[in-house]
Amino acid sequence: MPVTLLGAAEIRALAGELDVTPTKKLGQNFVVDANSVRKIVHVARVTATDRVVEIGPGLGSLTLAILETGASMVAVEIDHRLAARLPQTAAAHGVPDGALTVIDADALRILELPGDPDVLVANLPYNVSVPVLLHFLEHFESLKRGVVMVQAEVGERLAAAPGSKVYGSPSAKAAWYGSWRLAGTVSRQVFWPVPNVDSVLVAFERDASTRGSEEERRSTFRIIDAAFGQRRKMLRQALASVLGGTAAEASGILERAGVAPTARGEELRIDDFQRIAQVLGS
Ligand code: SAM
Repeated sequence: MPVTLLGAAEIRALAGELDVTPTKKLGQNFVVDANSVRKIVHVARVTATDRVVEIGPGLGSLTLAILETGASMVAVEIDHRLAARLPQTAAAHGVPDGALTVIDADALRILELPGDPDVLVANLPYNVSVPVLLHFLEHFESLKRGVVMVQAEVGERLAAAPGSKVYGSPSAKAAWYGSWRLAGTVSRQVFWPVPNVDSVLVAFERDASTRGSEEERRSTFRIIDAAFGQRRKMLRQALASVLGGTAAEASGILERAGVAPTARGEELRIDDFQRIAQVLGS
C-alpha cells in the first residue's frame, strides 16, 4: 500500500479531534499543501536508503512526504498530543511498521537518536530554529546534510557570507559545520494558520572532515559571541572584554592569528575566528 499524504481538510479535522489550537509559543504553523511538503523532500534529495530525522512533525504533513520516499525516520515532537497521535496517522496513511519512530520530547534536550540519521528535514518552529539546528549539528555527527524551512530573515542569516549586512553570530556558527545555501521560498498561504512572516528553505552540507575539537569549537563560539555581542566595537575591544585584559593584549593575540585588530566581527570568516581561538589556547 503506497503512503498517502494529508490533505488540508484532514489536517484541520485532526487538529479539531485532538483539541489542538495551534500556538505561537510552539511555532505551530502547519503546512497544509501537499506540493510544498513534496518540494521540501525533493530539495533534500531524500531517497529510500536515507535515515531521516524531523524536528517538530506536528500533525504529520511533512512526515508523510518523507515516508512516501521509502526512507525510514525518527520524528521529535514536544507537544504530547501530537506525538501520541502521529503513529496512528502514519499507519492510516500506509506507512509500514517500523519506518517511523516518534520521540515525545523537547528537541533541544535530545542527546541520543536511534539509527544514526544522515539527513535532517524540518519545518522548524520559528522561535527556536537556530538553537535547535546548532544543537543537532553539534550532537549528531551522523547528520551529513539537510533542508530546513525557517523564517526568511533567519534563513538569510544562516546562508550569509562575511561582509554581508545580515552576517552575524548564527552565520559564523553555522559555517563551523559546513556550507549553507538558500534553496527556495515558500508562500505563507501554504500554512495554517497563516504566519505573519515569509519562509525560505535552507540547505546545508556538512564538511567532510571535522573542523576542530569540541574544546576548540566552544572557544571559537565564545569569540563569535563576543564579536557580535558588541557589534559596533572593533574586535580588539570585544576580545579584551571577554579576556578581561587590555586592548593591547587583545591586539597581540589578533596579530598572531593573522587578523587585523581594527577588524569588526562581521568581516571575519569562520577560519579567522578559529585561528583566534587556537592562538588563545596555545
Ligand atoms: N512539520 C509540521 C508541518 O510542517 O506541518 C509542523 C511544523 S510547525 C512549524 C513546528 C512544530 O514543532 C510543531 O508541531 C511544534 O509543536 C513543534 N515544536 C516546537 N518546539 C519544539 C521543540 N523544542 N522540540 C520539538 N518540537 C517542537
